[in-house]
Amino acid sequence: MSDAQWGSPDDWVPPDEWAPPEDDGWLPPDDGGHGGGAPVPASVAAQAAPAVAATAPPRPRPASPIDALRSVWGYDAFRDQQAEIIDSLVAGDDAIVLMPTGGGKSLCYQVPSLVREGTGVIVSPLIALMHDQVDALLQLGVRAAYLNSTQSIDERRQVERDLLAGELDMLYLAPERLPVVGDLLDRARIALFAIDEAHCVSQWGHDFRPDYLQLSILHERWPTIPRIALTATATSETRAEIAERLDLQGARVYVSSFDRPNIQYRIAPKQDARGQLLRIIREEHPGEAGIVYCLSRKSVEQTATWLAANGVEALPYHAGLDAGTRARNQSRFLREDGVVMCATIAFGMGIDKPDVRFVAHMDLPKSVEGYYQETGRAGRDGEPSTAWLAYGLQDVVQQRRMIEEGDGDRQRKRAQTLHLDAMLALCETVECRRQQLLGYFGEPSERCGNCDTCLAPPETLDGTVPAQKLLSTIVRLQREHRQSYGAGHHVDILLGKDTERIRRLGHDRLTTYGIGGELSEQEWRGVVRQLLAQGVLRVQGEYGVLALTDAAAEVLGGRREVRLRREQERVRRSAKAKAAPIALDDAQQELYQRLRAWRSEVAKEQGVPAYVVFSDATLAGIAASRPADEAGLRGVSGVGDAKLERYGAAVLEVVGT
Ligand code: ADP
Ligand code: ZN
Repeated sequence: MSDAQWGSPDDWVPPDEWAPPEDDGWLPPDDGGHGGGAPVPASVAAQAAPAVAATAPPRPRPASPIDALRSVWGYDAFRDQQAEIIDSLVAGDDAIVLMPTGGGKSLCYQVPSLVREGTGVIVSPLIALMHDQVDALLQLGVRAAYLNSTQSIDERRQVERDLLAGELDMLYLAPERLPVVGDLLDRARIALFAIDEAHCVSQWGHDFRPDYLQLSILHERWPTIPRIALTATATSETRAEIAERLDLQGARVYVSSFDRPNIQYRIAPKQDARGQLLRIIREEHPGEAGIVYCLSRKSVEQTATWLAANGVEALPYHAGLDAGTRARNQSRFLREDGVVMCATIAFGMGIDKPDVRFVAHMDLPKSVEGYYQETGRAGRDGEPSTAWLAYGLQDVVQQRRMIEEGDGDRQRKRAQTLHLDAMLALCETVECRRQQLLGYFGEPSERCGNCDTCLAPPETLDGTVPAQKLLSTIVRLQREHRQSYGAGHHVDILLGKDTERIRRLGHDRLTTYGIGGELSEQEWRGVVRQLLAQGVLRVQGEYGVLALTDAAAEVLGGRREVRLRREQERVRRSAKAKAAPIALDDAQQELYQRLRAWRSEVAKEQGVPAYVVFSDATLAGIAASRPADEAGLRGVSGVGDAKLERYGAAVLEVVGT
């Protein structure tokens, strides 16, 4: 994978900056984690609280993976390849796992960590993510802890003691801690090593972490301990790089389907993009969490301010904000219900929030890989979600120019152009978006029925004649006036507009003046955009003037047909207000809302994200079955032994009132 797809380096925030600086005297603020400038104070509080992790009574080791799944997580069955991956790890083999976001990667190492003897050691690049995972495990009654720079020396010592005493089921580590804790790990009993977000070893990727390169020592130093590397990055280049750099050539590779059927893909022409976004939020996702990606810091700020002025709980996130503000905004996004984060692509990696209901792109992503990764942050919980992208002529002009004027060598520019072309092809396709997206990753599929082109198939029209009119206007301006112009001016000429500029330049005397009345201005802009996408036109120079390519001669000569996509009315999901994940009748819906209110209280008291207490799906399951006793409650998916003990009585009380 090349780095062509990613934003400028200064948009990139080293993930460690998301954590508070190392400070042994640091204590969590007492506001439940919503203020204070620290991203993850509550989980530190939870860990520091003596009764939780280490002093929990030793739990008998589960007899089998399915036993662990049922008793600890309260789930019935493994999904897809989970069982196979888990079995091979339990047997002591190495694995590389490529699974899309929300596919269930965590269980692949968490279950074997419980079943095998010793502590599962998990290398995770993001401190915030690590904290949330440990929070979630503690809620499940699993003895989990982490070692990272947010802890005081005393806290770290305590974790080390617990590890050596064999009282930890799982230990999360930041990669940079590994060299420091080598001797400690030598003295501990280790069940397995898991390397999460393993694509961070890829030097060409956006998420490259130099510390990941040293993870090859795991194999050298502890050759008999099984290792599992996991990533949601789909390309085969990344897979090969992971195998090589982590010394995992012998590992079995598990590739899941990368389809995310619950995500509805929609790509719309950019007209009043903010207005469209606001309608989507109001009509389809009111009060729900979402991410809005913008290209520049300035547009991040503007979009957040504009949404907030329109009554949306929106916050900005970009590398230009100070670390405290970034951490605070991220923490609010994770912990509160229904925050919309406006961000550059610096935001999002390792965001484990399962109930992000929409991802919007206000600008064209630079590659299909980037688009897939960013949209993949929607709907990890498997519930219906929206991926919406607004894309316009200006995006194409700007990105082509950025590549041309960028400081890469020829080869790099070529790679960037290929990435952009693939992205444009996805935008302009008249076929199923999902089919095209999966096809790009080498996965064949059927028409999906859940993307804009499936839901409202666009007409195609023969655009050869309009294209010829536009191209010959460009030719004439160059020949007769020795000048090149941008898209807008050509459209004005074709439409026969009577502007001061056209008269002054004498362009009303061109033979193509006013010959384009069959299309509207928007449609003409669409023609320019699609010709740029198809490589018939290109943009040049500082002002982004239009120029012809070799393909243009074929179109002008009638040797090449141009098919154009005619825009359809926009697809929208029917309006809904915070619907439960499954269909509930009125009485059940009422109970569901009361359970949510209860959950939000409990989460706030403990300073953990609400979904860590129970997922929406579990609450809906409870509302639908109205269990009368603990046995009934235990039968709901997502209610395991620890949660039953911890919350059973309280939940039954909410159900009973
Ligand atoms: P990933 O890390 O691949 O993005 P997660 O491990 O966070 O995905 O899992 C996504 C969601 O699916 C979580 O809420 C998890 O509890 C749930 N999940 C995973 N495996 C199962 C399963 N076998 N049965 C039910 N739910 C599952
Ligand atoms: Zn489709």
